[in-house]
Amino acid sequence: MIELRQLTKRYGRTVAVDDLSCTVEPGIVTGFLGPNGAGKSTTMRILLGLDAPSSGAALVGGRRYATIDRPLREVGALLDATAVHGGRTARNHLRILARTNRIPATAVDAALDRVGLAQVAGRRVGGFSLGMKQRLGIAAALLGDPAVLVLDEPVNGLDPDGVRWIRQLLRGLAAEGRTVLLSSHLMSEMQLTADRVIIIGRGRLLADTTVAELTDRYAGAVLVRTPRPAELAAVLTGAGATVAAQPDGQLGVTGLSESAIGDLAAEHHLPLHGVARRDASLEEAYLRLTAESVQYGTPPPAPAPAGAVAPSTGKDAR
Ligand code: ADP
Repeated sequence: MIELRQLTKRYGRTVAVDDLSCTVEPGIVTGFLGPNGAGKSTTMRILLGLDAPSSGAALVGGRRYATIDRPLREVGALLDATAVHGGRTARNHLRILARTNRIPATAVDAALDRVGLAQVAGRRVGGFSLGMKQRLGIAAALLGDPAVLVLDEPVNGLDPDGVRWIRQLLRGLAAEGRTVLLSSHLMSEMQLTADRVIIIGRGRLLADTTVAELTDRYAGAVLVRTPRPAELAAVLTGAGATVAAQPDGQLGVTGLSESAIGDLAAEHHLPLHGVARRDASLEEAYLRLTAESVQYGTPPPAPAPAGAVAPSTGKDAR
């Protein structure tokens, strides 16, 4: 488990992380998201003992990184896969890591096997592609069989097969009961990989919830087809919904369930030709949620274009 307790980090006048509190649970994959400059890297660096907090604490398995006796056995990390000595072979790179962390040498081949590098273990890392370096970085993270894994952009540089492989690996590691925290700017990939997401903006917590709940709240809409859209839109708006005409003539309705929409239509004798919940993307939800944080201090946004679904307020996402 990872716990952030009122974590704050200031660099001069910049507050990079601002009173951040949350828990990352074992057994699931948790995505760590936020716009550039939101404070993700700073949080991960503090978590891994590479930087000190100004106040508050970041705990791995209940302890600060600096007080952990054999860190690689508690937390595996992938921060920058290219930061490896190019002259060493993959196996030697891991052997040195194992020795300095008092991890048995037998763990090296097991880790190479797990990431699919067993065949190239004797080759120099300098000749590795970025994707192979990512795999080696993950092997290093897994070397100490840690209960907690922290991975910064692990799918960078991977081809589609590699991306799918890492998704399955991370889900498998979580299923083994490990705590898996990963950052990625690839929302579609995050939607497939993560169970929960922690979203920060300007150093503060914006959301700590399941992917399903987030997409439903911020991007969920019911698409309604009717031959009398203007009348139905008026009825639904009167009942508190937000209604936006879609380019294909349907109504995109937020704030009312499918059954409530059906009941209201029946009550007003308005025919319905279709009612369906739209598949919402994490990307859409994320953009809506973070818009407020990005726009803070800049001019207010232009009115939404015709056909757009109005964003919800996000008041209760905290
Ligand atoms: P993210 O990883 O979400 O893009 P960062 O944690 O890198 O965000 O940065 C958060 C904020 O802290 C940014 O405003 C960044 O400029 C600032 N920052 C990060 N590291 C330093 C540093 N070493 N010195 C000064 N400012 C920093």
